[in-house]
Amino acid sequence: MNHVVVVGAGLAGVRSIEALRARGFDGAITLVGAERHRPYDRPPLSKAVLLGASDSSYVDFDADALRVDFRPGVGATSLRPGVVETTEGELAYDGLVIATGADPVTVPGEGQQHVLRTLDDALELRARLVPGARVLVIGAGWIGAEVATAARRVGCEVIVVEAGAAPLAQAVGPEIGARTLSWYDGIDLRLETMVGSVEEGGVELVGGEFVEAHVVVTGIGVRPAVEWLAGAEIDLHNGVVTDEHLRASLPGVVAVGDCAAWWSRRYGTRLRVEHWDTALGAPEVAAATLLGEEAVYDPVPYFWSEQFGHMLQYAGHREAGERLLYRGGPEGKWAAVWLTGDDRLAAVLTVDRPRDLVQGRRLIEAGRRLDANRLVDPDISLRDC
Ligand code: FAD
Repeated sequence: MNHVVVVGAGLAGVRSIEALRARGFDGAITLVGAERHRPYDRPPLSKAVLLGASDSSYVDFDADALRVDFRPGVGATSLRPGVVETTEGELAYDGLVIATGADPVTVPGEGQQHVLRTLDDALELRARLVPGARVLVIGAGWIGAEVATAARRVGCEVIVVEAGAAPLAQAVGPEIGARTLSWYDGIDLRLETMVGSVEEGGVELVGGEFVEAHVVVTGIGVRPAVEWLAGAEIDLHNGVVTDEHLRASLPGVVAVGDCAAWWSRRYGTRLRVEHWDTALGAPEVAAATLLGEEAVYDPVPYFWSEQFGHMLQYAGHREAGERLLYRGGPEGKWAAVWLTGDDRLAAVLTVDRPRDLVQGRRLIEAGRRLDANRLVDPDISLRDC
């Protein structure tokens, strides 16, 4: 293999290049990235950057040392076998890494709505979060909750409009989401409420009510950034379809990060995980696969979120669980655990209990049966259950 093209200069793209070089790939590498920035990390955008504690989150990436032809501001526009078409001409490849991430979903309407995906988005939104500003956040998911955290801390008047019955309902279910309700103290949280459109000066709810706002932020999820692959001879279904080696259906092509829907041996289903740990870990396997080595991507998915002064961490795949138990009441530090029908740990969500997360992740990997009676006692460490 002489030339690898990497499309997407986010974490997954950069890690793919590092992994290729670490495995001894000596050929040419071209990295095309639609953004004009050098590669940066996204989790800080809704945390330190939005709060003003930091102005950027660039990752340590030395294109010269890695001998990469990095082309910022260049977008891939289409793909045919062996050739990526870009906004600046064609690139022939022997190996291709698709790492184009995901794009935020927006709400209809002519009014201005902020999204939070890029560094530019974060800096633009930060400038609007000033004391007294009336900020309306659409969606109480991970991003919405973090934006609401920052806006409240700055002294904005915050309204959160959520379609589900509780915050985080879509991500972890309404029962767990209800445990976070008290965190929204001082915020006008409107549950089971849908925004119909964003208009000048606010939003119109389904049903006709108009809610005024100076700033509207939409955090209702993302979809894989694969429009540029429309018409290419590559399987797409909720992202780029890959096998457990992260190999796409087109020869010589792998996909990683938010845009990849890989086959999970562990769970016997296809997963697409929009979290940092996947963008960090999958490239090792993708690079090995491109180089003809045998490697399987089979992680226990992991992510975290920092909201309202709490650290939430999650590991596993809750859909594999059949019953939900709690370690601790909602007012303090607690964890939710999902058990399979035969009492193995399927997933764990921890709130300010990092040790439960670490031990839970190991227990999921080990697949050991647990004693449910001991599990619900937060004073017994998870590994002793
Ligand atoms: P991306 O980081 O999206 O990078 C893809 C890159 O490809 C982008 O720069 C894009 O412009 C570029 N691109 C797209 N299309 C093209 C094209 N056609 N041609 C060229 N380039 C293209 N995860 C957690 O686990 N915990 C968190 O607390 C957390 N917080 C987050 C906060 C925010 C605000 C955001 C946005 C995400 C957060 N995440 C978090 C998720 C995590 O950051 C992502 O899972 C991760 O960034 C995915 O990396 P990626 O490289 O796959 O995609």
